[in-house]
Amino acid sequence: MSTVGDVMQAMDRRYPPRMAEPWDRVGLVLGERTAPVRRILLTVDITDEVIQQAAQVSADMVVAHHPLLLRGIHGVDSSHPKGRVLLAAIAAGVSLFAAHTNADNPVDGVSDALARTLDLDDIRPLEADLEPGLDTLVVFVPSKDLNPLVDVLCRAGAGAVGNYDRCHFHSPGTGRFRPLAGAEPHIGDVGQQSEVAESRIEMVLPRSARGAVLAALLEAHPYETPAFSLLPQADQPSDSGLGRIGSLPHPMRATELATQVAGRLPATAGGVRLAGDPDRMVSTLALLAGAGDSHLDAARRSGADAYLTSDLRHHPAQEAIAHEGSPVLLDVAHWAAEWTWLPVLAPLLSADLTDVDIIISEICTDPWVLAPGTGFRRH
Ligand SMILES: [Zn+2]
Repeated sequence: MSTVGDVMQAMDRRYPPRMAEPWDRVGLVLGERTAPVRRILLTVDITDEVIQQAAQVSADMVVAHHPLLLRGIHGVDSSHPKGRVLLAAIAAGVSLFAAHTNADNPVDGVSDALARTLDLDDIRPLEADLEPGLDTLVVFVPSKDLNPLVDVLCRAGAGAVGNYDRCHFHSPGTGRFRPLAGAEPHIGDVGQQSEVAESRIEMVLPRSARGAVLAALLEAHPYETPAFSLLPQADQPSDSGLGRIGSLPHPMRATELATQVAGRLPATAGGVRLAGDPDRMVSTLALLAGAGDSHLDAARRSGADAYLTSDLRHHPAQEAIAHEGSPVLLDVAHWAAEWTWLPVLAPLLSADLTDVDIIISEICTDPWVLAPGTGFRRH
């Protein structure tokens, strides 16, 4: 039977805690790693209502996006909202877990889920994380020793690319050298210039295999002093990163996009707010699930026609749309944007934990309940 520890492992594998921001508090909030888990309730926020639902549906664990205890409390006091939630969870035998900023940026993470919910094509990070490039090893070896050396280098971790191994390039040439006094040359004589039919081998290797590959090279190469270069490649953009950008299935006016977004996200009192030119034609949409006003510049630099995020404040929004060509802003409820992750997460967890039921909470934890006086305003 799966345990809290198994759920933690499944979550951490997809959303590694090391990817969380330093100020964040992710992982197990409440519970014992050995406790059995038969049913999990997924939610954005851990609230009184969510714990009540967990108890009603007999969930053993709540997996949430927002950490309950991001800002510390100093006691589990039932008169404090967090103490009350913790005591209710303990009484119901429910463990609590949160994957927050570590779930924002990866593939199958929160922004990725939002982009898929909005049916974007060609989805990529708005600001991609960099992943370390490979190293390239270039080594010269007498042609007759080419294959044995390639074998040794492959065993040490070189030459593997995706679903291929033993990847190497070789080209023939002539090596020249003159052994000096004290040398013990494999080929040629001290004081005499030698010419040898050599092969230039090029292979890639992960940085982590540098030590092992170089040790194997020095051990196996027939020359007393092998000639080689180890060249680091540039870091490369990965599939993971801040926010997402993609193309709409077809260009549409900003007002039409706002209406479509409202139809695709779970309903909230605030709905969708639009800032900028409502008639702007939008074909590229940048987005960031969660509070995104600190990334307005990134959205503008991306060249997107619209930027969808949450919690935009008056001044940053006003200043952003004042820039020439700036994207139209779509502000949606923080909860609604992040809720789109739960239907993406559920099947992934089900596949990892085949004996566990996964339920998605549809309790709206958006704090706003009423928005009278809303409507369209033209300048
Ligand atoms: Zn959030």
